[in-house]
Amino acid sequence: MNNLNIYTEDLLRKIGRQLDHGIFPVVKNGGIVMPSESAILSKTLGKESHHAREKRRTSPARKSTSRAQGTPGRSTWTPARIGAPSSTPSVVSAVIDNAYAESLSDIVSAYPSMQVWKQEGGFWLYTESSLLPGLSRRVSFLTAVSTDKQVVRSWAFYCSAIGVTWIGPRHTNFPDGSICAYEPKDSTWSFGDSLVTLLDIYSVWALRQLHYEIFGNWPGPQSVPWIYERILEIKDNELCGCGVNGKHYLDCCKTADLRSNLVREAIRFGNLSLWSIRRPPVQISQFMCCRNQPPQISKFIV
Ligand SMILES: [Zn+2]
Repeated sequence: MNNLNIYTEDLLRKIGRQLDHGIFPVVKNGGIVMPSESAILSKTLGKESHHAREKRRTSPARKSTSRAQGTPGRSTWTPARIGAPSSTPSVVSAVIDNAYAESLSDIVSAYPSMQVWKQEGGFWLYTESSLLPGLSRRVSFLTAVSTDKQVVRSWAFYCSAIGVTWIGPRHTNFPDGSICAYEPKDSTWSFGDSLVTLLDIYSVWALRQLHYEIFGNWPGPQSVPWIYERILEIKDNELCGCGVNGKHYLDCCKTADLRSNLVREAIRFGNLSLWSIRRPPVQISQFMCCRNQPPQISKFIV
C-alpha cells in the first residue's frame, strides 16, 4: 500500500519540506496537492490540533459567522487554488441548502466526485481527493454539515475493493476520529465559509497523513498543547506543538516534557480525551462502504 513511484514520492517530500518551512502547497481540482511555486509564507498556516471535547464546545461552528463578516486575521491559512470553479457544469446550479449559500456547481467543479444527501437540519457531502499525481489510491471524505447546529464534521478513508480504511488517529478528534485539520482559534475556516476551501484544507491534511505514513513524520506546524500528548505522538524531527514556531520537538519542549510529572500529565490528558480511543462511529464506516442511506447527522453532531 505504501509503494510510491519516484516522481510521486519526490513531490510528497518536496511538499513536506515546504510545509516545515511554512510554505503551503496549492490545491488543484480533484484535490491534487502540488508544491507552491510562489513560496507563500505564513506563521500559523495549517496548524492541526486534536480537538478534544473541551475544544469542540468553543469551536467556531457554534458562532454565528458568515463569509461577509470576515476577520482581519483570516486567511492565516487557506490553500492557494488552481483551477477555480469557473467552468461550472450547468446540471447543478442550485444551492445545497437555503442555510448554506455555496452552490453545488462550485463544489462539483472543484471536486467532481461529489455526492450530496440532504436531510432535515443539514446535508452530507461525499468527495474524493487524488492527493498527488501518480498516487494509486484516493482519499474519500464524508462530511456532515449541520445547518441547524452550524457545525461541520468530516471523516477520511481509503476505499478499496476489500473495504474501507480509516485515516487516523493523528490529528483527529476524540473520540469519534473526525478530521482535525486546523486550530479553531486561528479562524482558518468558520461555518459559512466556502466548502471548497474546507475540502482543500482536508486535502492537505490527508497529504500530511500520507507523508507521515511514508516518511514517518508529520510535516509542518501543529498545535499540540498537552504535554502527555506531545510525548506520545510528536517525533523528534517534527515541529513542536507548543506554539513556538520553527523548532523541532527535540530542540524545544521534549526535555522539559519528559521531566514533568508524567502521572499528572497522563491523567490530565486522559480526562481531556475522555479516556477514549479515537475511531469513527460504525455507522460512518458502514456508510462509506456502500453509500446508500446516510445516517442522521444529529447522531453525530448534537
Ligand atoms: Zn515546544
